[in-house]
Formats: sequence, C-alpha cells, structure tokens
Amino acid sequence: MSCDQAGAVVHGYFDNELDAVGAAEFESHLEQCSDCVCALEDLESLRSSMNLAQLYERAPAPLRKTILASLGSELPVAAFPSRLVWRWLAVAAVLLLVTYASWRVTSVLRGGKYETILADEIVDAHLRSLQPGHLTDVVSTDQHTVKPWFDGKLDFSPPVQDFADQGYPLQGGRIDVVHGRSVAALVYLRRNHFVNVFVWPTDEMDRAQSSGSQQGYQWIAWRKGGMEFCAVSDAAPAALRRLQSLLTSN
Ligand SMILES: [Zn+2]
Repeated sequence: MSCDQAGAVVHGYFDNELDAVGAAEFESHLEQCSDCVCALEDLESLRSSMNLAQLYERAPAPLRKTILASLGSELPVAAFPSRLVWRWLAVAAVLLLVTYASWRVTSVLRGGKYETILADEIVDAHLRSLQPGHLTDVVSTDQHTVKPWFDGKLDFSPPVQDFADQGYPLQGGRIDVVHGRSVAALVYLRRNHFVNVFVWPTDEMDRAQSSGSQQGYQWIAWRKGGMEFCAVSDAAPAALRRLQSLLTSN
C-alpha cells in the first residue's frame, strides 16, 4: 500500500466517520487512487464475509433472564392498559404511512423516473446476464475485437476500452434491452465481480453521476458525449466509481 491516505482515512470513510467535506475530498481522491480503492474493497469483503459467518448468537435463557430482571421495573409495557397501547399504535401507523407517502412523492420528484424505474431494469438486466451463457455474445479482452462486433447490430457505436492495466480487464460485450431499446452491454471483471456497463445514445446534455443500490447491487449512472452510461455490479461502490472515472477520462 503506497498511498499515504490508505490507512486512517480509508477506515474513517468506510465507517462513515468523515464529515461531508472530508468524504467528498476522499471520493475525488478515490477516482485517481487504485491503492485506496483496493483498501476499501478489502474492508467491504471483510464486512460481508463477517455478515455471512453469522456471528450473531442468541443469548442463552439464563443470561436473558438475568438481564431482563436487572432492567426490572424499567419495562412498563405490560402495565399499559391495552386499549391505550392500541390507540398509540394506530397513531404511529398513520404517521408512518404519511411519512412513507411523502417520501415516495419527494423521491420520485427528486430522483426523476431514471432512479426509480431504470435502476430496477438495470439491476434486472445485470442479474439476467449472470445466468449461465448469457454474459457475453462476443468474448474477447481485445477492444479492437469487441468494438467492431457491435457494428451493424446497433444504431450507434459504443465506446469500448480495455482497462486491464488499471485492474478492470474487458471480458466482452453483448446486446441487451433496457427500457424497451437495444443497448450495448460492456462486461468488465473487477476482482471476481462482473461489472456490466450499459451504454445507449441520448440527445440530452451531459450530467454528473448519480448512484444507488438495489437488491445488494450497486449502480452508477452518468451521461457524457451524447451517451447514457450505467454501470452495475456487486463490486464495492468505490470500485465502480473508479471504473466510471476511467471511462470518462478517455
Ligand atoms: Zn489513495
């Protein structure tokens, strides 16, 4: 690890302990620094393997009893008249419903239809592609093979580049369908995680990235030079951002 930020700053970022300015500064550093991207990915995979290991264990009954007894009189729930409890629950349920409804409305207004509808489709297309035999129609790590393969199959020419030297080797490509139109899907490999980059043309102006996660998959979308891009994977978010910066800097 040669980068001097790859210690405390990475950990602080991973644990959400940086302030907004610090986090933003580190995110722009991540776009250039593969050391820090790797360090973050290691932390991600450590966390997910610890989640999978099911370290959680239920307290044995005697311990549970002791703790409950020591809390003793501080648990007044049983003493509540049940009608009052139900009334409060009803109020809470209505409040929750109102909060949820207004959150839905604002998230649709704020995110536009892209985030709410297209992210679903992108993640579905990614999952479909991981079925055996579906990932690539043209298998090649050579951009000079993959790019001409798209000619005549699409009404546009997607930018195709290999980033093997930066840790994102091109695996191939295929035609996919997103939002009712044919799109190019470029497939990259990032440390055993497949990344699909969907590309299709647009008339709209360039825009900065937006990102999110869905069913445990990360996606990141942006628009540049008359093309919409959306990358999706179960790789770490920092790894996707790094790939985005490679794709946009060329
Ligand atoms: Zn770094």
